[in-house]
Amino acid sequence: MHYLDLPLKEIHAALVAKKVTPLELTQEALKRAKQNKDNCFEMILEEEALAFAETLTEPEEDNILWGIPYLAKDNFSTKGLPTTASSNILNGYKPLFDATVIAILKEKKAVLIGKTTLDELAMGGTGTTGHLGITYNPYDPKHEHMIGGSSCGSAAAMAAGIVPFALGSDTGDSVRKPASYGGIIGVKPTWGRISRYGLFPFAPSLDHVGYFTRYVEDAAILLEALSGRDVMDSTSSVKPVEDYAEGCAKPLEGPRIAVLDDIVESLTDATIRDAFNDSLAKLEKSGAVINHVHFGKELLESIYATYIVISCAEATSNDANLDGIKFGPFYGGKTYQDVMAQARTKGFSELIKRRFVIGSFALMRENQDVLFLRAQKNRAKIVERTNEILKDNDFIFVPAAPTVAPKFGAASDKLSDEYLIADNHLALGNFAGLPSITLPLGYEDGLPFGVNFMGRAFEEKKLFSICATFEKITGICGEYAGKEGK
Ligand code: GLN
Repeated sequence: MHYLDLPLKEIHAALVAKKVTPLELTQEALKRAKQNKDNCFEMILEEEALAFAETLTEPEEDNILWGIPYLAKDNFSTKGLPTTASSNILNGYKPLFDATVIAILKEKKAVLIGKTTLDELAMGGTGTTGHLGITYNPYDPKHEHMIGGSSCGSAAAMAAGIVPFALGSDTGDSVRKPASYGGIIGVKPTWGRISRYGLFPFAPSLDHVGYFTRYVEDAAILLEALSGRDVMDSTSSVKPVEDYAEGCAKPLEGPRIAVLDDIVESLTDATIRDAFNDSLAKLEKSGAVINHVHFGKELLESIYATYIVISCAEATSNDANLDGIKFGPFYGGKTYQDVMAQARTKGFSELIKRRFVIGSFALMRENQDVLFLRAQKNRAKIVERTNEILKDNDFIFVPAAPTVAPKFGAASDKLSDEYLIADNHLALGNFAGLPSITLPLGYEDGLPFGVNFMGRAFEEKKLFSICATFEKITGICGEYAGKEGK
């Protein structure tokens, strides 16, 4: 077992005791990154990471992130380093500033060892649409199964055991769905808890900075480090940041957990359903009160359409600045319109073009009432129903996805309940801005699957507590594909 595989607290203790150095951790992480065959990286920052790690010689006892190697999705601005969002329209673009989370981690002297692939501009969920091609699931060496997206590179790198944590972003489920497919923990906190400054916007009313870890306590430690008011993001919250790890140490007394039966009923995979029901029994045994609730099938079925209209509309408007002039390569043309048309034609993949067409269509004056405003009203209804359930319950608890990681190109019936409900419900957390965490539950044919807990706004401490209890119930923690001794 390498120090890199331990929980942050234990790596930190070893660093402070000088049993291992930041340089050794960084070298090991880089070695694993270079051996990896899952196409996780936009770039590996070998030189930069080694040079920085070498300067870290005096351990900082009260700084748990000191000398810890990590990865960031390539839609976080990194000063002087290419940041492409896996899109050809941003090839070669080097931001002039760091995203706030990158700046925080730099100040804490965590070591950025690379930038990871994503579905282009963070739109999509398959890990197949970035300009470097498909990112694979490390649990399948044959490369037939996806890791999911859009945070595909960070999720795959975590599932391959390369670093102890990695940054991602989550607009619909982009951290929490791949976390399920990769057998890792995926966190999306309350909207506004972590500053989004420097994260490329996709749909700001739904966008969240998120991240992956392999231990619940690590996730709690990271939230404390990354959260807080940031003058550069006026939507960041002024609420005090808490000692979230304290929550992990203290089991809740009689937590009230709502299980959304309409979601469980729409599952067709018996292994996942049985494992989920079995975990319910164990939660009950640990003192939790389980309440079976129906969310309302019609509302659940409307999540995907609502999400697509709102997210595409916001994306169309936000990404209007990708005109081939301000950022990225020049693709030819003489007039402004021509330059823009060429850049957007050559710079975007089909998926992005399709989404911009949907977004523009929904925003056209004559369509706004029936599409954009209707979607907003429906979002409000969905949020109201979610908060109603959370009035009487501390958490909503559901399977994170209906299946293990799907095969590439596998056909799914996009109008089935399984797809519309069980494959899209994680967006509830984005609509309502509520904290939501995916964690592993089990394995089917060697591929992982997970569950998701969602809590009330800013009640992350309680959420980490129930997740710590759950981690003990499953006993799955610190795992990754190909881990020694497995
Ligand atoms: N899969 C969703 C989409 O296609 C979510 C993306 C995200 O969360 N960034 O947009």
